[in-house]
Amino acid sequence: MHNVATAITVLQLAIGPEARLSDRLISDIVRAVSAVWAPLLHVVVDPAETPTCHGAIRLLVRTDDRPPRSASSADTSAALAWIDFVDGQPQSVITVSPDRARATVNRAMVAGRLVWELPVVVGERLTAVAIGRAIAHKVGHYLLQSPAHSRTGLMRAGLAPRDLTERDTARLQLSSDQRARIAQRLAAPTWANAAEPEAQLLW
Ligand SMILES: [Zn+2]
Repeated sequence: MHNVATAITVLQLAIGPEARLSDRLISDIVRAVSAVWAPLLHVVVDPAETPTCHGAIRLLVRTDDRPPRSASSADTSAALAWIDFVDGQPQSVITVSPDRARATVNRAMVAGRLVWELPVVVGERLTAVAIGRAIAHKVGHYLLQSPAHSRTGLMRAGLAPRDLTERDTARLQLSSDQRARIAQRLAAPTWANAAEPEAQLLW
């Protein structure tokens, strides 16, 4: 039995140059992704032109507020972020919609009030958390190399507004089976050979 669970892999989130995300939003997004994925992944953000660290996973994050192509998807988080599969393989580009994240968060209740009634700074902070958690879900699809959903936890379809905004991440856990599969995959030295995400945008 290999002790793979103790390895920490770096997840580099490369922010596309045209992405409509402020520096403040980006740092809050990274914190939200880290809160879900620690201790398996150490999440860092890099501008898109940064080369991949050896052994790191590098995903390009871009923004697009147009309706997602798979509008029939039952995956609520698909409205906020999505990742394409080509020939069964997840592509290393995660697209997020800041507008739809903002709209979803504004309808959520926090301390008995709708978020849109709260100070703008609170809404922006929660929007970053929602985007971060939607990205965290897509990272799960990427690492599991599967578009499949589970009934509970991070990989269930249809994350509710409260899952995107509440402080506690207990409802965003991986199952022990998913965790074991991912730990095994992270221990395999295949990530360094991944194609550059820029090239995959051509798909
Ligand atoms: Zn999903």
